[in-house]
Amino acid sequence: QQQEKESLYIVLNYAKNYYQNLLWNQDEGQAVGLSYFKERGFKENTIKEFELGYSLDNWDHFSKEAIAKGYNPDILDKAGLLIRKEGKQFDRFRGRVVFPIHNVSGKVVAFGARILKPDKNQPKYLNSPETDVYHKSHILYGLFQAKNAIRQEDTCYLVEGYTDVISLHQAGVNNVVASSGTSLTIEQIRLIGRYTQNITVLYDGDAAGIKASLRGTDMILEEGLNVKVAVFPDNDDPDSYVRKIGAQAFKDFIKKNSTDFITFKTKLYLDEAANDPFKKAGIIKEVVESITKIPDPIKRAVFFKQTAGLLQMDEGTLIVESNQILKKQV
Ligand code: ATP
Ligand code: MN
Ligand code: MN
Ligand code: MN
Repeated sequence: QQQEKESLYIVLNYAKNYYQNLLWNQDEGQAVGLSYFKERGFKENTIKEFELGYSLDNWDHFSKEAIAKGYNPDILDKAGLLIRKEGKQFDRFRGRVVFPIHNVSGKVVAFGARILKPDKNQPKYLNSPETDVYHKSHILYGLFQAKNAIRQEDTCYLVEGYTDVISLHQAGVNNVVASSGTSLTIEQIRLIGRYTQNITVLYDGDAAGIKASLRGTDMILEEGLNVKVAVFPDNDDPDSYVRKIGAQAFKDFIKKNSTDFITFKTKLYLDEAANDPFKKAGIIKEVVESITKIPDPIKRAVFFKQTAGLLQMDEGTLIVESNQILKKQV
């Protein structure tokens, strides 16, 4: 079993070198891949640090070359690098820029791959499937590159995409990871918890994204970590925003605009309810549920007081509701 994992790491590392070699040293790779990254504002050092690459627009260039070099096709398949269909095999990643995904110790376990131009017949990002070394729910993109900074800053920024992680790094914000491809999981939160108790979630500035990620953020509370939220202006994500306003202004923006998650959620819902008392009652329950998830009783008490103020409610009423929820749980 361990031996099989080792052989997966070896082919994944070979693939990483193969994609990097194309990006830097081959005509199509340079013309299409490298220039794509440069147009996005990625500097050469950044591209190297994240070991970015390019996959040729060709059905099986990778597989043929890997097999010719002596790599076992079954292992290439188990590593998620091939697609097998009707006795034939193809490369999984074709004509895309490639983002290696590392585990905490820096080994490549998977890839994310982006198309270069919008195409409604193809997903924008394609990711490796689950394999013996890649359990999506246990991996955070960028953690290997970020872990020391997360410890040092005692905060972790959580973003949506690969390119957000990379752009922020380039701007000198190194304590950043993405849960790429999946919604946030308990295992990912625990992984961050090894380095810090403080997470700031940096949401893309689209309302759909925010609503979708509220659940995941509740889980952070449940794990006992402190969670803040910052939302970017409409249609911006951390990557586009840091490029727009620069590193220092970006840091200032986060400092000024991060709110604790409970307050954020309360205000978000209050805006929605306007003056509808039924809706407001529903919101109060929802928010009390979130506060009830915080394991530490002192933190809970602080949030009851603060939220009661925001909701213009008696704190005691919120606590009674919270006790009801706790009773139902046992
Ligand atoms: P870019 O800036 O390159 O357009 P992004 O990182 O801002 O990309 P989003 O559309 O905000 O992309 O999506 C966030 C993340 O969700 C992506 O980085 C990727 O990991 C994942 N994702 C997006 N679209 C898809 C898709 N079609 N299939 C699988 N994963 C996807
Ligand atoms: Mn988005
Ligand atoms: Mn983006
Ligand atoms: Mn985005």
